[in-house]
Amino acid sequence: MYKLHIIPVLKDNYVWLLENNAKQVIIIDPGAAEPVFNYLHQHNLTPLAILLTHHHIDHIGGVVRLQKEFNYIEVYGPKEIPLSIQYIENKDKLIIADFTFEIIPVPGHTLGHLAYYCQPYLFCGDTLISAGCGRVFEGTHQQMLNSLNKLAQLSDDTLICAGHEYTKSNLDFALNMLPNDTKISAYYNLICNKSITLPSILRDEKQINVFLRCKDKKIQNKFNFNNELDLFVFFRSQKDIF
Ligand SMILES: [Zn+2]
Repeated sequence: MYKLHIIPVLKDNYVWLLENNAKQVIIIDPGAAEPVFNYLHQHNLTPLAILLTHHHIDHIGGVVRLQKEFNYIEVYGPKEIPLSIQYIENKDKLIIADFTFEIIPVPGHTLGHLAYYCQPYLFCGDTLISAGCGRVFEGTHQQMLNSLNKLAQLSDDTLICAGHEYTKSNLDFALNMLPNDTKISAYYNLICNKSITLPSILRDEKQINVFLRCKDKKIQNKFNFNNELDLFVFFRSQKDIF
């Protein structure tokens, strides 16, 4: 019913487009405007709205120019974004034309971070990133862990449309932590020659993403922890310096 598009921008960011049957698109996290203009033009697509996950410039940098070019466009995002947009507060759904997005608050990377779910597509910005997760900049580790666990409860078929191409370095880190994990090394071999590894599938993430495996008692024991949060804090702080 919908068609997903991915546009690489800046150094390693992704802008996502979700297209309906009328060639209308929702733009998610346009960190830059120019590549989005070009893409829309080349594919003859009409933008309806922009959804923003959080306030970092590499996710919102193209918004003002896109608003100028398409003056009718609606822009939605959390209140932390210092732009003239419609803030999403206390809403669990967003309906735009024939698109319906479930709004999932996922604090941790930033406090207001939102994820947008339009089954099977999950636009999760810098919260869940393939084989990894975003840094904990504003929230607590407990908040970030809760946010990741919330996303992990979605259907196994969910397609993870994250904000960055970090998969290889995340898998390098995962293999550094769990060198004998055959699922992680198999996944590394599968993606290592690809320049674009997204979207990934939640079912795979549950096996290859160490930040989704902190409940695993065997892994906790390996690192001498006895609870999920301590292991998560350990992995996240090790990844910060990896
Ligand atoms: Zn960010």
